[in-house]
Amino acid sequence: MYLNHITEAIGNTPLVKLNKVTDGLAATILAKVEYFNPGNSVKDRMAIKMIEDAEQAGLLKPGGTIIEGTSGNTGMGLALAASAKGYKCIFTLTDKQSPEKINILKAVGADVIVCPTNVAPEDPQSYYSVAKRLNQEIPNSFYPNQYDNLSNTAAHYATTGPEIWQQTEGKVTHFASGVGTGGTICGISKYLKEQNPAIKAIGLDTYGSVFKKYKETGIFDKNEIYPYKTEGIGEDILPKNVDFNLIDLFIKVTDKDGALMTRRLAKEEGLFVGWSCGTAVHGALEYAREHLTQDDVLVVLLPDHGTRYLGKIYNDDWMRAEGYLD
Ligand code: PMP
Repeated sequence: MYLNHITEAIGNTPLVKLNKVTDGLAATILAKVEYFNPGNSVKDRMAIKMIEDAEQAGLLKPGGTIIEGTSGNTGMGLALAASAKGYKCIFTLTDKQSPEKINILKAVGADVIVCPTNVAPEDPQSYYSVAKRLNQEIPNSFYPNQYDNLSNTAAHYATTGPEIWQQTEGKVTHFASGVGTGGTICGISKYLKEQNPAIKAIGLDTYGSVFKKYKETGIFDKNEIYPYKTEGIGEDILPKNVDFNLIDLFIKVTDKDGALMTRRLAKEEGLFVGWSCGTAVHGALEYAREHLTQDDVLVVLLPDHGTRYLGKIYNDDWMRAEGYLD
């Protein structure tokens, strides 16, 4: 019994009950642990789907180059899929990302270009603009654009959503997830709401991101945009994968609260996960404490693994320097 390629191991990740960090809560809180994917993150699912859909549409041909702006996890997923299919990869990242993420992408054969974080998306130096320019310059290249490529949402509609429905035997009442491109929450929410329209989708947002205010007021408020530290969630743009009708509400979580909960998940639950996982759990528990009863089953998605944050969240000196630890 063997797989023909590691990409065949994507999906069917475990759903694990949280027992300690939930102290005293009546509701059942279950974590969908996405680091079990071969690239150690949820993004493997959409990376392979974006590539296969592009091949079918004739947008990606043998010997082609995949160019993407990625905070790291999508790059890993794309690199795994590219190795299965013989494509080259070039990724643009912001200088906010962990050095681990950059080195991991290089290890799996990608070329990495680091761009400044604190420039507007339309600035020619931004990681969006650099990826777009390279796509125009390099022949036979494909720019998946995870923000606006609806194969991203479709991957979660086809796999993650059905898995959660089956693993909870249809008992899930709430689903919570951080929102970056929006593919994860919207694909899962669409599937779950089709099974049971009463299921609520809770989006976790960062301070410094536009989503929550936009959901509540319909206003794209540039004053909401300022630098923050949490990686992979919150945006200064409105990606096409974010369908606000599929997200019932947003909760903002501070960098510090997310970081501290990440460490608790590792210590108390044995879940050595990434920063946005702590953010998601912190926000989900805040909601659960206020709104949920013993009949509720909340599934919270944990996007990636702790190794990528060894120099930050799991480094006491860094945590102290950021003011997150005394
Ligand atoms: N957490 C991490 C660590 C991520 O890399 C991402 C992807 N940007 C997310 C959360 C958010 O997932 P999505 O893009 O599907 O909204």
